[in-house]
This record gives sequence, C-alpha cells and structure tokens, in this order.
Amino acid sequence: TQDTFVPPPAKWGGRHTVTLLPGDGIGSEMANHVKELFRYAGAPVDFEEIDLDSTAPDVEGFEYALMSIKRNGVALKGNIETRTSFQGFQSRNVVLRNRLGLFANVVCVKNLPGIRAKQKDVDVVIIRENLEAEYSGIEHESVPGVVESLKIITREKSMRIAKFAFEWATKYNRKKVTAIHKANIMKMSDGLFLECCRITSKEYPDIQFDQMIIDNCSMQMVNKPSQFDLMVMPNLYGDVLSNIACGVIGGPGLVSGTNLGYRYAVFETGARNTGKSIVGQNIANPCAFIRASVDLLNYLKLEHQAHVIEDAVMKTLIEDKVWTPDLGGQATTTDVMQNIVKYVKANA
Ligand code: ADP
Ligand code: MG
Repeated sequence: TQDTFVPPPAKWGGRHTVTLLPGDGIGSEMANHVKELFRYAGAPVDFEEIDLDSTAPDVEGFEYALMSIKRNGVALKGNIETRTSFQGFQSRNVVLRNRLGLFANVVCVKNLPGIRAKQKDVDVVIIRENLEAEYSGIEHESVPGVVESLKIITREKSMRIAKFAFEWATKYNRKKVTAIHKANIMKMSDGLFLECCRITSKEYPDIQFDQMIIDNCSMQMVNKPSQFDLMVMPNLYGDVLSNIACGVIGGPGLVSGTNLGYRYAVFETGARNTGKSIVGQNIANPCAFIRASVDLLNYLKLEHQAHVIEDAVMKTLIEDKVWTPDLGGQATTTDVMQNIVKYVKANA
C-alpha cells in the first residue's frame, strides 16, 4: 500500500497548500492555535480555511470544501456537528470520507509518561474501516414504526482494509494483528470481514494473527490493554474502541487520528469530538489537534517542523506538566499554548 502514502509535492518555493476545516465546537479555537504554531515553527504551509455553516445544509460550502481537499490533497479537520440533522442529509463527516475515498482511519494510542491514565503500557494502533458497514447510511422506515438500517460489508473493502492493516504492521514493525468483530451474531457480515482478515493474514507469516469479539475486546481494552498491538475492525466498532482507548490513556484531548485513502489524507483528532460544551471557556486541551497537525507535517515530509512542535508538546505535558482540567490540571488552553510556543520559538 505504498501508493496510499504519496503526499502531494510542494508547490513553487517549497510551500504546501492545505485545506483547513475547523468544524464546529472548539474547532476554530484549535485551528487558530495550530496556525500560530506553524508561524512560529516556520512551517511552509498555507492554509485554505473553509468555515462551514452548520446551522444550514450549506451544500455549496461543503462542495467547495471537497473541491479544495481534492485540489490540495491534504486537510486538517475539526469535527463537524452531526446532531442538527436536516431531513435527508447524512453526517457531513461521513459524506466527506466517502467522497474522498478515505477508507482507513488510523488512531495510535500510547501512554504519555506522567499523564494520569487508567492503565499503563498501552501502545496500540487502531485501524478502522472508514466507509461502510454501520455507516453505510442507508436507512428507511418501511412501514410506520418499522425502521431498517442496512449494514453493508463487502469483500472488496474488507480485503482492502485487511491488507492496509497488515502492511501498516509490516512497515511499523508491529508483531500482532487482532481482528475485532461480532461474527458470532452477525455471521454473514462480520463473518465476511473476519474471513478477509484471516485470508490476508496468510500472506504475512511473520505477523501473528488473532481475533476477538467486540464486547470482550471492549472489556479487555479497559482491563488489560497491553495485550493489543495492532487492531483492525469495521466502522462502528472502531468508533467506540478508539474512544475507549483514548479514555484509558487520558481522554479526548491527547490523541490524533488520520484518515487515509489512495489519493487524499485528512488529519483530525482521534476521538473526533466537537467539544461543544467547552467552547469559549479557554479550558480545551489543544494537544490532540496539535498532534494531528504534527501528523500532517510528517505526511508532507516537513519533519523538522513536525519534530519541533511535537517536542514542544511533549515537554509541556511531560516535563512542565502544564495540564488542562481534562488531565487533572488547572492550566488554561492559553497557558498550554504559551508553554508550547516558548519551546517552538526556541527550537524552530
Ligand atoms: P461530541 O462531539 O460527540 O458531541 P463532545 O464534544 O461532547 O463529543 O466531547 C465528549 C467529551 O469530551 C465532552 O465532555 C467534552 O467536553 C470533552 N472534550 C472533547 N474534546 C476535548 C478537549 N480537546 N479538551 C478537553 N475536553 C474535551
Ligand atoms: Mg462523538
């Protein structure tokens, strides 16, 4: 899957244009913090910022955003509010992933030294099929009071995500791939997914293959997460499990996540929250969004700037322990940012 990871080349003068979709909730605050850090780090990135209107369907704005990502190849994205559902409109987060063919969601969850966590020794890669199954979005009310929702699982997309997972394991030296499913109940759909993972595993004899049912896995993720190395699963299970894993190591403010396809890459936070309830309070933990921007820089091969920002975040969290309330601290978002900026300025 090497062809999955071809970042767009820099433009004239070595600069990159990246679509920035702040989304709703704390998204625009977080986006501003990233822009500030990129300036101090001297990252040669020009953001094409697109603010979607979430109080209306805003079809035009959304199409414009998609076109922008297709043109630039890369985006940094906050979560778009989905609860205000307009009749006939699917979640725009889901539509965006579908329209861009972002078939894999990758969330790497690892303890940070000194950060209060429910378990230690977590170091897991969660790979989630990002386009189909429960998120197919095909629902209808067949007769009043009876609703059908189609969970579609295809051999093609299951084989694709299975191969992606094993290739990731190979590339990043992971020893074990665990397929997560509910094939005991959904024998055909999850059965097919599991079968595709098993077939693919035969081509990777050096990587151990294992499988686990989602309910047991959820419990194990809380009780003994150190047993997991790389995990691959259908869409909804990935949604839930990546949030559980983020919770285990310290909450929604720490972890980033990447959406990859053959042509485009979209970087966002791992738990994909909007953080509506903490907007404007200066208490949101900016680290998840900033780490998403570090992933973006690495993808663009701007490794120096990526390293400078990543290092500043780590020093702030681990050495200086400047923590927002979600981590048990009393620092404001501004305090965290000032501390990070201090290191970025010194090392850029
Ligand atoms: P959703 O996007 O599904 O509405 P929320 O935005 O409600 O999810 O986020 C879930 C919880 O995580 C909320 O309590 C929210 O305050 C908290 N949260 C989300 N992002 C952050 C963050 N960056 N820093 C601190 N808390 C956060
Ligand atoms: Mg959510």
